[in-house]
Amino acid sequence: RAVEINGRLIAEEIRSGIASDVKRMKKSIGKVPGLAVVMVGQRRDSQTYVRNKIKACEEVGIISTTTQLPGDCTEEQVVNALSRFNVDPSIHGILVQLPLPQHLDEGKILDVLSLEKDVDGFHPLIMGSLAMKGREPLFIPCTPKGCIELLIRSGVEIMGKKAVVVGRSNIVGLPTSLLLQRHHATVSVVHAFTENPEQLTCEADIVITAAGVPNLIRGNWLKPGAVVIDVGTNPVEDPSCEHGYYLIGDVCYEEAVRVVSAITPVPGGVGPMTIAMLLSNTLDSAKRAYDFT
Ligand code: NAD
Repeated sequence: RAVEINGRLIAEEIRSGIASDVKRMKKSIGKVPGLAVVMVGQRRDSQTYVRNKIKACEEVGIISTTTQLPGDCTEEQVVNALSRFNVDPSIHGILVQLPLPQHLDEGKILDVLSLEKDVDGFHPLIMGSLAMKGREPLFIPCTPKGCIELLIRSGVEIMGKKAVVVGRSNIVGLPTSLLLQRHHATVSVVHAFTENPEQLTCEADIVITAAGVPNLIRGNWLKPGAVVIDVGTNPVEDPSCEHGYYLIGDVCYEEAVRVVSAITPVPGGVGPMTIAMLLSNTLDSAKRAYDFT
């Protein structure tokens, strides 16, 4: 049976390292990192994500501030909020909680964000430098960075290995495939139009899935001994659960554990790592701003 890669534990280790760095920064220069969150509307899932991010900041000593705008606000209001944070020297990371309401132009709003403070790493220039040899992106997007950290900290060799990424979204699939290439894997990308995706996945040493399709990846899609990172977070309605649903991944876990050598659970795999990487990017940004090492 496969080893379970414990994302909660690994994220915890990372967070405690961040906490001690923040403490050291405060002691030596009297400053701490600051994160600003801009939220539009009252989506319940977004509220939960934002609450978790704020709590995680508090725990490591990062100061956070949230601007809540009404769901029917104008583009100008969002841009104004971002512009204020762009020039605020106590803020080192800014994030806009996505998705935004339909009437707002997401691309236009994200373009306003100062590149030096884009801790989510969604800016096109960041994606461009991620793709280009010899360029160092200012930030690596949190979820892809979390996936790679899980592999590295679990002792999985990436260089020279065959990797398949399932999904090609701007926030997960695409940057993950670019990042794996930076680590010298040979990468194939599978998406909704791919014919016979299992022919690719069953050859892969590393499979990272971010499709948002429950149980898409079956046991017989996987190579014996492969390593699987399941980013998928799919709610399954169940009135007997605390919130009326529980979460499952893209991988049919019970089948996969009998085939592969290591796998992340859902929940408790990639999710905690995404938040840890957000804290890490915010700390890095503050270190850069204060020229603190
Ligand atoms: P998305 O909907 O933007 O993209 C999904 C991608 O999967 C697309 O590129 C699509 O082509 C591909 N896809 C869809 N159906 C497919 C199929 N049958 N076969 C192969 N490919 C298929 O989603 P996203 O924002 O990238 O998120 C993907 C999943 O990851 C979701 O479940 C989301 O909740 C989860 N997620 C988790 C975290 C985390 O921190 N754990 C962070 C972000 C997203």
